Amino acid sequence: MDTQSQVVDRLRSVFCSGVTIPEEFRRAQLNALMCMIKENEELILNALHKDLAKPKFEASLSEIDIVINDLHYTINNFSKWMKPEYAGKNLATRLDTCFVRREPLGVVLIIGPWNYPLQILLLPLVGAIAAGNCAVIKPSEVSAATESLIAELIPKYLSQDCYAVVRGGAEETQALLKNRFDHIFYTGSQTVARCILQAAAVHLTPVTLELGGKSPCLIYGDVDIIAAARRLIWSKFFNAGQSCVAPDYVLCTEATRDALLPELRQAVEDFYGKEPQTCPDLCRIVSPRHWTRVMEMLKKTSGKVVLGGESNEEDKYIAPTVVVDVAEDDALMEEEIFGPILPILTIESLQEGIDLINRKERPLALYVFSDESSIVNTVLENTKSGGFCSNDGIVHMTLPTLPFGGIGASGWGNYHGRWSFETFSHQRACMLRGWALERLNTLRYPPYSDDKLGW
Ligand code: NAD
Repeated sequence: MDTQSQVVDRLRSVFCSGVTIPEEFRRAQLNALMCMIKENEELILNALHKDLAKPKFEASLSEIDIVINDLHYTINNFSKWMKPEYAGKNLATRLDTCFVRREPLGVVLIIGPWNYPLQILLLPLVGAIAAGNCAVIKPSEVSAATESLIAELIPKYLSQDCYAVVRGGAEETQALLKNRFDHIFYTGSQTVARCILQAAAVHLTPVTLELGGKSPCLIYGDVDIIAAARRLIWSKFFNAGQSCVAPDYVLCTEATRDALLPELRQAVEDFYGKEPQTCPDLCRIVSPRHWTRVMEMLKKTSGKVVLGGESNEEDKYIAPTVVVDVAEDDALMEEEIFGPILPILTIESLQEGIDLINRKERPLALYVFSDESSIVNTVLENTKSGGFCSNDGIVHMTLPTLPFGGIGASGWGNYHGRWSFETFSHQRACMLRGWALERLNTLRYPPYSDDKLGW
């Protein structure tokens, strides 16, 4: 078996041979990736169930369909994206041909997390292939069943000369990162992102970081409280809260909280029944280590658990849980929860909510629930976040026509659809000149004079 550096060297020499450049090659690989997913749907669903007890419905929606949609969109459009983009000209460049040429970066590294272990590895890969790169992909070792399925399927369907899967955890990834890549696309925690940046600094490798953070949900003014509760519960407890764009905490007035609580309780019962632990539609926490991390937060909170709170270590189960009377400095507000716990903080004014959000790191997503568009616009205009969605959670990330990514500590760069293609392309500025109008150039050659500047 090749060592990691042999794999990278092999891919680099294949890239230099130009194999990945023709549109037909890229199209064939994208179609092969589509076949891989479609022909192995059952195996994929089983692996995801093994790793996270993902219900078939959630897995189909968030791991399979989203990649298939992006693939369709990319296959139908990337030929257009590959074309030169002609640039505006001025008098001095009137006779030149000026355009932006999208060129592949080279050999790129894609490192994925465990929470959507298929989607978050394959969506960037779609962009990397469409843009004409070779790629090394590194699935998360934590979602072991999906990791081993990906390692088995990718070489069966995609060109082994151009795409390779490398397996392993922190140590193997650190070793892999010693190699020179032309781009690193990393999805995961902020802590590990710092290690990635240090490794990238050695070779000055450009990096895309898709990280997490605490995405707020601000509920204010008149609101359809039943719909709000159902959308909040769905987006929070989808994947048992292990979504980078899950609403992390709620901000609302006391009156809204009091109206919301019975509806949240009802929504949990409607979705997961009276005993959520027996419900097949609720995921489990991925590992005992992550279960302990989430439970520690819950133990330390000085808030009041008003819904859920039950747990079972052996089953890696944590009930959909709602906590009220949570202060800004509570244990649940220190880091991203990444589990099925929803803290509710009360505010007295919209401005207080906006100020609280702005005191924290810029989030990956920001949600506002309100019937009043003036409230939605006020929040939109006075905050910053990777993405924004009113009156729902998570769904803004399903559109391949919208860029997906963070800002500041929640991430650098973006992807999905054309945005992935751009991330994995170099926008090369090209000016093709002839020899005409040389007499005009005497204006810019020495000897200089103020007259030449037109003064
Ligand atoms: P993680 O950072 O622990 O692991 C991610 C990847 O990094 C894995 O492939 C892992 O093997 C590797 N890794 C782990 N330790 C490493 C080290 N020391 N050096 C080099 N590589 C290392 O992240 P996770 O726990 O898998 O994912 C959870 C985090 O990811 C959450 O913060 C979540 O918000 C974020 N996330 C963000 C997005 C997004 O699109 N922005 C999507 C999913 C998850």
